[in-house]
Amino acid sequence: MSLRVGLVHAPLFLDHAKPGHPERPERLLAVTAELERARLLGGFTALPVRAASRDELLSAHETGHVDHVHGAISDRPVMLDEDTYANEHTWRAAVCAAGAAADLATAVMRGELDRGLALVRPPGHHATPSRTMGFCVFNNVAVAARAAQLAASAGGAAAKPRIAIVDFDVHHGNGTQDIFYADPSVLFISLHQFPLWPGTGWLTEAGEGAGLGANVNIPLPPGTGDGGLRAAYTRIVLPALRRFAPDLLLVSGGWDAHWRDPLAQLQYTLGGYAWVCRQLVEAADELCGGRVVAVLEGGYDTEVLAVGVANLARALLGRDEQEDPLGAGLAGDTDAGAILDRLERLPGAGG
Ligand SMILES: [Zn+2]
Repeated sequence: MSLRVGLVHAPLFLDHAKPGHPERPERLLAVTAELERARLLGGFTALPVRAASRDELLSAHETGHVDHVHGAISDRPVMLDEDTYANEHTWRAAVCAAGAAADLATAVMRGELDRGLALVRPPGHHATPSRTMGFCVFNNVAVAARAAQLAASAGGAAAKPRIAIVDFDVHHGNGTQDIFYADPSVLFISLHQFPLWPGTGWLTEAGEGAGLGANVNIPLPPGTGDGGLRAAYTRIVLPALRRFAPDLLLVSGGWDAHWRDPLAQLQYTLGGYAWVCRQLVEAADELCGGRVVAVLEGGYDTEVLAVGVANLARALLGRDEQEDPLGAGLAGDTDAGAILDRLERLPGAGG
């Protein structure tokens, strides 16, 4: 039986723009062009784009945040915080980005789709319950997790479904961490460069209350490359996923840990990224009936992003090939072993 892999992409995600800003429409244009060039688009089932409802936004954000964003956006360009811009199209793009992620997660949870990919902007993983941050307006992957849980309970599921979110963007997914910090039903795992903006994501941030142990940070030193990525996945991410036993796997996909990305200093290659994407799809097959939905976060070199997302698309579509026209950077692969040793000894993250 062939896989049903959902895709949401739409021109309205290109309208959110600020000249000269790194989080720019050309990112998504490059991705779509590469998916077309590689003849991958036809393998997907396209879903219509839909705005998230107010209740869906409020499943991850405080009322004041939603009202503040709605009130701040007007027909003139504004800054919502020091890094996050908005123009007259931003509200529609932001609510549709959250709606797209929610629809894919819901459809996969209900068994209407096997897997999903949300190619959306603005990104979401820095948006906290109460504020915009780091180019992010609403936390798309968090809204998706809540929508999937709601869909399962509406479908008569007795227990609240367990959602695992793996975030491989180079920046710590601080917003997602904040939203689920005390929630034992959502496991959040972030691999990121440390130190780096936003400054959070140390390995001792492990959740609180009932959520203690359901938040795993893997802070990788600058210079970490594919070797560190593979070790972190094998030693920390996969064991944590197996212990948690999710019903659905969500992926916050950011390609700014590539060696050529202008915003950070990790040294992954496109081959390393393709490897981790395939691992995550295999983990979903092993642990949760193949249910996996990926949501686009960062990645600011458009060629890296385009080829990287195409390799993720191949993994989701069950195709074995991958492409890496850029190879490895000149820097070596910093040893992340000391951090992984410490993580393995922590309760929750380790054994
Ligand atoms: Zn990032």
